[in-house]
Amino acid sequence: MKPAPFAYAKARSLDHAIALLGEHRGEAKLLAGGQSLIATLNMRLSSPSLLVDINGIPGLDGVSVKNGMVEIGALTRHVTLERSAEIAEHAPLIALAVPHIAHPAIRNRGTIGGSLAYADPAAELPACLVALDGEVDIAGPQGKQTVKANDFFKGLFDTALGPHDVLTAVRFPAATAGTRVGFAELARRHGDYAMVGLAAAAKQNGKDLSDVRLVFFGVGETPVRARKAEAALASGSIDAAVAALDLDPGDDIQATGAVKKHLAGVLLRRVAAQLAGES
Ligand SMILES: Cc1cc2nc3c(=O)[nH]c(=O)nc-3n(C[C@H](O)[C@H](O)[C@H](O)COP(=O)(O)OP(=O)(O)OC[C@H]3O[C@@H](n4cnc5c(N)ncnc54)[C@H](O)[C@@H]3O)c2cc1C
Repeated sequence: MKPAPFAYAKARSLDHAIALLGEHRGEAKLLAGGQSLIATLNMRLSSPSLLVDINGIPGLDGVSVKNGMVEIGALTRHVTLERSAEIAEHAPLIALAVPHIAHPAIRNRGTIGGSLAYADPAAELPACLVALDGEVDIAGPQGKQTVKANDFFKGLFDTALGPHDVLTAVRFPAATAGTRVGFAELARRHGDYAMVGLAAAAKQNGKDLSDVRLVFFGVGETPVRARKAEAALASGSIDAAVAALDLDPGDDIQATGAVKKHLAGVLLRRVAAQLAGES
């Protein structure tokens, strides 16, 4: 299928992009990597009157590490994260997750900002950001604001972004010596969206884990924290954590809710071993 007709504008600056969105009063969409947007246009799931291309806006991409925090610009492409030495050292959860996103051609264009703004419930990066207790910078007509990842994902493909807002960067604590991370997903083929996935982070003191964050994806409308399982894992029992798994996934095109819950337990055992340094 072909998209409905639309106009195109290349934003020169952040302010220009916000102004263009405002002029078109909810009828305009930002274009980042285009890897989700163009598919929705072609399928006529979306028919904006204007695409505002943000790719030329200076200062919206790149990885930096300062004051114990990793900051990633919204236009940073998945491939950049995959190849970044800074990400490998300071953001090992992101380094584990990115190779699971789609295929190289898509990772060459897709951006972290686009992935978070699109908020597909089966996507890897939203779950990672929640697991890392990260935050998102947003610029809009009212100025700038920072929103915690927990509060950013509101519902199915729905976020704290308003229609005239631009996500500009994400930030989360850099890994330290005691940081443990784990990541696993089950997909029909490598690169497909996950049937179920798990991004996890914890702190290790000797053999003990604390601050365990288990964030599942593909099991609800947003990334889902399994808080009872987190507590059980922190007290040292993987079996108890699996038994306590507080998830209630619905059926979808990939699998029934019951199968997803079973797979979530399988992933939890794998990720628990990673957190304990056993794999
Ligand atoms: C075949 C295929 C398989 C895929 N598999 C996976 C997968 O396994 N896992 C996964 O996570 N993703 C997958 N993707 C999606 C891919 O990761 C996209 O790159 C990502 O979802 C969107 O990023 P983008 O930069 O391409 O955004 P775009 O497609 O340009 O935009 C997506 C949406 O976000 C909005 N947007 C973009 N940037 C901003 C911003 N800075 N501020 C506010 N709004 C913004 C756009 O207006 C649009 O509504 C797949 C895509 C395809 C085509």
